Amino acid sequence: MRNYSIEDSKQLYGIDNWGAPYFDVNDAGNLIVRPTLGETQSVDLKEVVDELIGKKVSLPILIRFPQLLASQVRSISESFARAIAEYGYQNVYTPVFPVKVNQRKEVVHELVRAGRKFNLGLEAGSKSEILIATAQDLPPGALVVCNGFKDAAYLQAAALATRAGRNVVVVLEKPFEVANVVRLAPKLAAVPMLGFRVRLYSRGSGRWEKSGGATSKFGLTTGEILQGIDLLSKAGLLDKLKLLHFHIGSQITEIRRIKNAIKEAARVYAKVRKMNVAIEILDVGGGLGIDYDGSKTSSDASVNYTVQEFANDVVYSIKDVCENEDVPVPRIVSESGRALTAYHSMLITDVVAAAEPGSGPELPVNGEEPRVIQDLSYIRTQMTAKNHREFWHDGLQQRDELFTMFSLGYLSLEDRAKGEMLFWDIAQKAVKFGKLQKYVSEELEDVEKQLSYKYICNFSVFQSIPDSWALEQLFPIVPIHRLNERPSRMATLADITCDSDGEVDKFVDLKDVKESLEVHPLEPNKPYYLGILLIGAYQDVMGDYHNLFGAVNEAHVFVEPDGKRYIRNVIRGNTAGEVMKIFGHDAEQLAQSVAAVLEGQVREGKLEEKAAAKILAEYRNELARYPYLTG
Ligand code: PLP
Repeated sequence: MRNYSIEDSKQLYGIDNWGAPYFDVNDAGNLIVRPTLGETQSVDLKEVVDELIGKKVSLPILIRFPQLLASQVRSISESFARAIAEYGYQNVYTPVFPVKVNQRKEVVHELVRAGRKFNLGLEAGSKSEILIATAQDLPPGALVVCNGFKDAAYLQAAALATRAGRNVVVVLEKPFEVANVVRLAPKLAAVPMLGFRVRLYSRGSGRWEKSGGATSKFGLTTGEILQGIDLLSKAGLLDKLKLLHFHIGSQITEIRRIKNAIKEAARVYAKVRKMNVAIEILDVGGGLGIDYDGSKTSSDASVNYTVQEFANDVVYSIKDVCENEDVPVPRIVSESGRALTAYHSMLITDVVAAAEPGSGPELPVNGEEPRVIQDLSYIRTQMTAKNHREFWHDGLQQRDELFTMFSLGYLSLEDRAKGEMLFWDIAQKAVKFGKLQKYVSEELEDVEKQLSYKYICNFSVFQSIPDSWALEQLFPIVPIHRLNERPSRMATLADITCDSDGEVDKFVDLKDVKESLEVHPLEPNKPYYLGILLIGAYQDVMGDYHNLFGAVNEAHVFVEPDGKRYIRNVIRGNTAGEVMKIFGHDAEQLAQSVAAVLEGQVREGKLEEKAAAKILAEYRNELARYPYLTG
């Protein structure tokens, strides 16, 4: 067999496809991250994990690379700058980070810090998010765009942010919101700038395409826009209308849909502008997608365009329409949350066990067993490449026979165990012979799926990758070491919750979706680490507490220009007591209840006082521990 190299692993897991320029593999066979755009300094993820474990930080660990956030702000902003220069666009682009995509303090702070030179602003979708945005150290030109449902208190929060010196734009999405603004404006201490969200006819593509289109839940129809302009004008508020916004869904997979939406929105902008409304900003919303599977196609896990193509199309399309309508081009704003954050965080988990279908001890068949066992044994020994399909079908029939006979009481437990062992051996042989054929039959592909290992991984799907469970979203998953070794097994990944949905059985692939992942056999007493990557958008903040698995341990990793890597912040995940608290169980009260039970046992003479004190101390200790598997 040909020697296996890291290039084979890179190809197998598609690392260059979904990970360039940030992810790669080093000569040691470890996955590395190059967090600074355009620079070569790298961080070896296995080394980081070893160091953290040395510092008694247990897995699962979320590793954050704040520099990847900075790189993405730069990448998107510079792409727009290039497009603006190329098309001679006479206005500017400024990004806005939608806080909902990742409200974590460290994420917001780093984006605001790194985004200063690009005038990055924030988008808020609720009162709480406005309050966060109000307090950030934004540059003078940055916008705070307020979307979401707006009541009087929301408008007051926006007015407060305006009084605090922020450039607030409240985007009105419903006719009643226009009416509310008109009614409440005289009572507000400061009236923020206003925007209209347009309900476009154009739809996005992919999983979130219902966010756009004529029947979407969001946005003002053409009639409502005209009515809104009229209402604002009558209330003397028309000079506040500065922005036009649209959002046709996240992760738009096809560039054609984006172009259509931009052209339509630019046309609305131009027509409104021609009504003597001093509208200045066109906000193209989110939707800039991530190529999770690296296929560069319009599949749900990918996008058929680059960031530069996106920027070019936005800039060119707006300019084209504005020239045609003879109106000045607007300042362009985008609310690209996924694209800014997806790359920057990853979960590292360890495989705690490998379960094999049909596993069990090898049981000798001595020829004295019931007929069905002997038939299965015959099929196993006599199966060849030539007869494998026919023999496989016979094997299936004998398996049914085996279970029927067992249910009717004709077989012993030992007979059943032998029969099951023989059946799985037959399945393995059938798959092996099937692979030698020109075309692998679909039924044998399914058998291979059933034969794949289940690697039990120390994490909760529901806490760390909720979209994998809720939306079947794909994330690249790769061993972070041993990439210079052939991964000789196929496995699905089960988490440690007691829920059968807590499993990952769809994996990124260049051409299709893989039903199992290539993994290495586990080595005795050696850890095996898998990285679940590109999870920085939405996953960090949408996770839930199924089985009371809470926030995971977290570390922030940086690399210096001289290549030195350092771990700056280690944030401990929730203890068992902290997670319980979220659901109303106070750790101290629980400990006191246990203490009362123990006292009773001491009183009844069932337990010595010293032993009771020890049990209580250990119980308290458990409440303060990390609920994931710590060995
Ligand atoms: N803006 C609005 C109004 C949104 O609803 C969303 C999310 O769906 C975004 C921006 C962020 O979109 P994305 O993460 O695709 O950039």
